[in-house]
Amino acid sequence: LLPTVIIVGRPNVGKSALYNRLIRRREALVYNTPADHVTRDIREGIAKLGDLRFRVLDSAGLETEAASGSILQRTTSMTANVLARTQFAVFLIDVRAGLHPLDMEVGKWLRKHAQGINPIIAMNKSESLCDGVGSIADAADEARMLGFGDPIAISAETGLGMTALHDALQPLI
Ligand code: GDP
Ligand code: MG
Repeated sequence: LLPTVIIVGRPNVGKSALYNRLIRRREALVYNTPADHVTRDIREGIAKLGDLRFRVLDSAGLETEAASGSILQRTTSMTANVLARTQFAVFLIDVRAGLHPLDMEVGKWLRKHAQGINPIIAMNKSESLCDGVGSIADAADEARMLGFGDPIAISAETGLGMTALHDALQPLI
């Protein structure tokens, strides 16, 4: 059985962009589970990252919860089922935007509902910092405040930092 990695984060941080980069054309299936008033979608595919192969989940449904501001209140059986078979998480933030209150909510949600999962923080859109918008070190200091350890700098769009992501996941997987 392949290990499973879920990509989490508030809307627009680049979860789907990272998912698409990791799976290319290897998408397996899409879950559509209506729950409460929200339809949650979780896309699942087989990721290849260097010599690593793992199942990867794009958590669009959790994003909907974050956007509604009720991420901590609503845990569905689907979410619980998904988390029960997930060992790892990549917690994405948008390095251009800086820390956002919804990033804190996602962090709280992970602590509450994903205790067995050790997330890796990834600062996405890091290619934008090369243009002098800000420094990676400052962004990393900020990201550490989420309390999940040292962040890695990536770009789902350009592929920057995929080796760092591999090296962060490899000892876990
Ligand atoms: P999601 O809502 O978290 O799934 O985010 P998306 O994958 O839909 O991306 C949101 C926006 O960020 C889109 O306009 C993407 O093109 C953009 N985006 C995603 N990854 C990157 C990146 O690495 N660099 C930059 N500059 N933009 C990105
Ligand atoms: Mg998405």
